[in-house]
Amino acid sequence: MQVIKEYVAEKKEKLRQMLQKQQGLKMVIVQIGHVPASDRYVKNKAKDASDVGLDCEIINLPEEITEEALLELLRGLNEDISVTGYLVQLPLPKHISEEKVKLAIDPKKDVDGFHPLSKTVPATPLGIYNYLKDMNYEFQGKNAVVIGRSNIVGKPMAQLLLKESMNVTVLHSKTPEAEKRMFIRHADLIVVATGHRHTLTADYELKPTAIVIDVGINVGEDGKLHGDCDPDLPVEFQSPVPGGVGLLTRMSVIDNLIELSK
Ligand code: NDP
Repeated sequence: MQVIKEYVAEKKEKLRQMLQKQQGLKMVIVQIGHVPASDRYVKNKAKDASDVGLDCEIINLPEEITEEALLELLRGLNEDISVTGYLVQLPLPKHISEEKVKLAIDPKKDVDGFHPLSKTVPATPLGIYNYLKDMNYEFQGKNAVVIGRSNIVGKPMAQLLLKESMNVTVLHSKTPEAEKRMFIRHADLIVVATGHRHTLTADYELKPTAIVIDVGINVGEDGKLHGDCDPDLPVEFQSPVPGGVGLLTRMSVIDNLIELSK
């Protein structure tokens, strides 16, 4: 497996060359309030967009904006023919329903792939899938374990792997520990997305040939970013945090925008 940072740098260059031939695409990022982590994600996504030559506009809205005013703005973006696609950066302030916002985004403009009718796939599982495919990972018939069943990571990840004829098991917070150990022991590919550090540790029996993809982003007491897995597991490949899935996700945002332009 290629180091993810290198893979992403190469992919960015390919996207840049491709977008030179496809002018006029525009992405909008809607940000409400200022959560420090979101500020960083928005800045990174905008930087990626400009690196590959995309027009990218950030709309900053005050924390106090009403739900109705936000939905009205989204209706405007749905209508605006100059906008190829847009995303609303999560998390939202508590007084705004995430569900309503996701449903307000026109599936034809849904860069994040969060609307249930979207043809685009949520960016994180798509980024992982594209990376594995580009690494010529042989999916068919192998055992995949996805830990976490959220609508934006675990479930779409499991679907993508199933589409590639893997034997997919999805674990969650109600999975008994003994079962978790049993499934992990047999896993060739493990995708961990729980939002909890130490979900996967060297205490579990792992196949030495296993590939571990760590989606988690947790800020430790040391102020640093940590994954859901302990580092340096005794496996063939483990994606690092930071410098792993976050980078793949950012590339998929651009992939999704290009997909929407078709
Ligand atoms: P959610 O909180 O929506 O879902 C977490 C899932 O993990 C739930 O299905 C939950 O089970 C399950 N879970 C929680 N604890 C355990 C446990 N101990 N063992 C097994 N399963 C468990 O999180 P997300 O899917 O949105 O995100 C997961 C992580 O990935 C977070 O750290 C998030 O920050 C990160 N993330 C990173 C991205 C990136 O770009 N790198 C993008 C998106 C997310 P149950 O359903 O039973 O409650």
